[in-house]
Amino acid sequence: MSKVRVRFAPSPTGGLHLGGVRTVLYNYLFAKNKGGDFIVRIEDTDQARFVEGAEQYIFDCLKWCGIEPDESPLHGGEYGPYRQSERKELGIYQQYADKLIKDGHAYYAFDTPEELEKMRNDFKTAENPSPQYDHHLRMKMKNSLTLNEDEVNNLIAKGTRHVVRIKMPENEIISFTDMIRGEIKNETSLVDDKVLLKADGMPTYHLAVVVDDYLMEITHAFRGEEWLPSAPVHVLLWKYLFGADKMPEWAHLPLILGPSGKLSKRDGAKYGFPVFAMNWLDNKTNELTEGFKEKGFLPEAFINLLALLGWNAGTEQELFTKEELIEKFSIDRVHSGGAKFDYEKAKWFNHEWIKGLPISDFRFRIEPLIQDSKIDISDTEKLEKIIGLVKDRCTFLTDFYDQASYFFVTPEILDVDAVKPKWNEEKKNFFLEFINKLSAIENWGLEAIEDVFKNLATEKNIKPGELQMPLRVMLVGGKFGPPVFVIAENIGKAETIKRIENALKVF
Ligand code: GLU
Repeated sequence: MSKVRVRFAPSPTGGLHLGGVRTVLYNYLFAKNKGGDFIVRIEDTDQARFVEGAEQYIFDCLKWCGIEPDESPLHGGEYGPYRQSERKELGIYQQYADKLIKDGHAYYAFDTPEELEKMRNDFKTAENPSPQYDHHLRMKMKNSLTLNEDEVNNLIAKGTRHVVRIKMPENEIISFTDMIRGEIKNETSLVDDKVLLKADGMPTYHLAVVVDDYLMEITHAFRGEEWLPSAPVHVLLWKYLFGADKMPEWAHLPLILGPSGKLSKRDGAKYGFPVFAMNWLDNKTNELTEGFKEKGFLPEAFINLLALLGWNAGTEQELFTKEELIEKFSIDRVHSGGAKFDYEKAKWFNHEWIKGLPISDFRFRIEPLIQDSKIDISDTEKLEKIIGLVKDRCTFLTDFYDQASYFFVTPEILDVDAVKPKWNEEKKNFFLEFINKLSAIENWGLEAIEDVFKNLATEKNIKPGELQMPLRVMLVGGKFGPPVFVIAENIGKAETIKRIENALKVF
């Protein structure tokens, strides 16, 4: 078998949705599992949807995910150019469109937008509310099937705007084997005569995907299931241009579902979770959509959770490194049904991955997030000690600041409401005496602090449990964090006393 070559073929039109990253991932895992190559081809032929900066953004996302293409416009390779707009300049698509016309499989169509609109109105019926440009209607339109050769040549010579359309056979059954779904059959009579070459000379996706997959020697193609309806067009183009046996094996990946059907960008805003890999700023609307990266996900967790959205290893195992995924991935364990994205489960993955990170690795990841904060990152030893205390309490990398800042700076706000209802003179007196006892400790340390606290509580006949929560709020500001005496030990004697004194004024 020839070397496996797969491609991710994004259109640079905006943020990279998690469904897109999963497509990348399945391509990549499949290729690497088989010792093959992973190629990125930029499908930028739709100039109306082209967005400046979107291509670089896609590469940034792949880099963040730890997925390195073997060939791409940035990485080079022997099958370039890897941008369709550059391939168009070389006349690559035109020559195949010409061949299709010559062989009678495609034709020129000169209909103006107004004429197309009129067709849709004139032929609208109750049974067929949206008539298509197809074998029923093509002979009623202005194209090289209805005009004679001279008329066609004339129109072209005059520079009349035109497109090239495929001439779909009237009554054929087109079948192919999908790697996930098995045999797929389509009736050609139901498919319209899709445009292959646009008026601006750019190919549409239908022509470009076939030509480029052929020229780039792609062996397996993974794409979203939204492409299933146009698959018969692609199968026919393969047959007409290169031979059906040369076609890559297709896999149409299931949709990723959100809380209300297909997971959309708007779902993110609605339900408060990210849908893009990284922050995406729409420079037309100035709208910023938060990414998984900026939310505080680890890339390892992100690809782990995406891999499991539609695939499983056939065991109970849920946590996989990239290397394990490469080793275990197999297409027969990808299911064809939609995969539901569960944000709570996504958080679980991230939390598990954070718990598993070595302390120094965690430090390296959070330093950029806290370098301008009040946390002193220059004292590596202290920082790593605190990380050891709070890391496992972080669901996101971005939780670290809130979980740890009180080790570095006196909290400004105290959760007074948590203490107030049960606060009394007795407790106040306890803490006043506690301060004195703390000042007298010579060897500041966990045991000494705990002894002083417990003995005094016994002496005053107050349950230690009733005093620990106020002490925690005094030191931390809220009701969270590692054991309270560990906190006191770490912030030091003077700071502990200062925080208790401050809090007593407020309670
Ligand atoms: N440019 C297409 C898209 O963004 C690619 C589909 C494919 O992988 O063939 O959906």
